[in-house]
Amino acid sequence: MPIIESLAAATIATAIPPAQMPSSPHVFSMSCKVTAVNGDLATPEGRARAIDWWRKNGFTKLWLETYRHGEHVSSERLAEERDAFRTAGFEVCGMITPTMLNDPPPGAKEPQMVVCWSDPVARERMSVEVARAVRLFDTVILDDFLFSGCGDGCARCAADKTSRGIAGWGEYRRTLMSEVCVHDILQAAKSANPKARLIIKYPCWYRHYAERGYDPARQADLFGECWIGTETRDANPEPLQACWIMAWMDALTGGKCGGGWYDALDSTPEKFVEQAYYTILGGARESLVHCYDYILADDPGRTPFGEKAGSPGACRAAFERESANLRRLADILRGAGRGPFTMGTDGVSTHMFIKDGKQCVVRVNTTGKTVAGLPPHGVRLE
Ligand SMILES: [Zn+2]
Repeated sequence: MPIIESLAAATIATAIPPAQMPSSPHVFSMSCKVTAVNGDLATPEGRARAIDWWRKNGFTKLWLETYRHGEHVSSERLAEERDAFRTAGFEVCGMITPTMLNDPPPGAKEPQMVVCWSDPVARERMSVEVARAVRLFDTVILDDFLFSGCGDGCARCAADKTSRGIAGWGEYRRTLMSEVCVHDILQAAKSANPKARLIIKYPCWYRHYAERGYDPARQADLFGECWIGTETRDANPEPLQACWIMAWMDALTGGKCGGGWYDALDSTPEKFVEQAYYTILGGARESLVHCYDYILADDPGRTPFGEKAGSPGACRAAFERESANLRRLADILRGAGRGPFTMGTDGVSTHMFIKDGKQCVVRVNTTGKTVAGLPPHGVRLE
């Protein structure tokens, strides 16, 4: 299992081996949840507004969601939007959020958010949605809801665990998730579209992967590619995680981590932009802003656990201010040798690179005050 559970975060950051930064141009992409795909983006006028903003801010790729929280987008609508965005010059892929796939419990109005995967009904719904999505998109990313919250309180999972002779809940959940990945996701996808490429995305909370069913080294082999969440948000006491977790996941999966994903939930505008910088500095080939709904829409849609897109307008404005600088930084670091990154006790992180034989240092001030000449939340390339 991942070595990470027994290691302190600081140990992880210093244990990540040096590596090359991606040699391809960094891709800036944005996801669009079902709310937006069924809403703002369903009209030519709405699409035109979005396209204008994406072009101004360097976005070249979109991920359109087919399903989330019990809500679908029709295949006809997805095809229409996919084709319209491709005509406008964007790369367009699909996305599925595997939530609320069981029937509602007795007396409840809706299913549980986190899926009980021992339920054949939920697994069938998952495979049907995967097959539908890959008929529309060759590449589909899965939002990080494959984990399990079931334990002794779930009679179905408890009985299944006993019948399989598995003692621990962590091992049971990992076994079950691997079955879901193989049978209900990858086989379902290949049957519907032999060219299908599925991507598993991991959440930020790496300490709980093993107990919740995630096993990145093994699963990235099954999928061929994984992504990592760099959505550290305001509450995480260790902001540098948005950087090192990308490099760590890439090392853990033998170079299979294709991109980083962050969002504006529970984030100040400064934290939102800090996540953007750290995703690039950690070596991502692509950074995905999740999502249109939180940044550009009037309606952020439902969030899984009541997180707040508290300042979408401010996060949007912060990104607009930094978008050219983010692209410039990614261009400068393209193909560079990546050395260590460390967080100072003053709240400024230091990132070492070698480009064309010259040392290049990036400093990121994660505090709200001026430190060593760096303005609050400033980024400096030396
Ligand atoms: Zn269960």
